[in-house]
Amino acid sequence: MRIEAKHSHNITVRCDCNRTFNLIRLGPSVECPHCGRTAISTDLVLEWHLSGGKKVSVDAA
Ligand SMILES: [Zn+2]
Repeated sequence: MRIEAKHSHNITVRCDCNRTFNLIRLGPSVECPHCGRTAISTDLVLEWHLSGGKKVSVDAA
């Protein structure tokens, strides 16, 4: 599971089951609503930063 994109109001996460879902905010852990897999939020954020976070997009205000 990894962060696909960060927006100003939500975060898109891509799961290992190859589906994506949106989160309003990150809790201690993230659970995929499709398959029930969980991941630790800090791991996702760390991986996001390591990947360069190049997909950041900003919603139109
Ligand atoms: Zn899943």
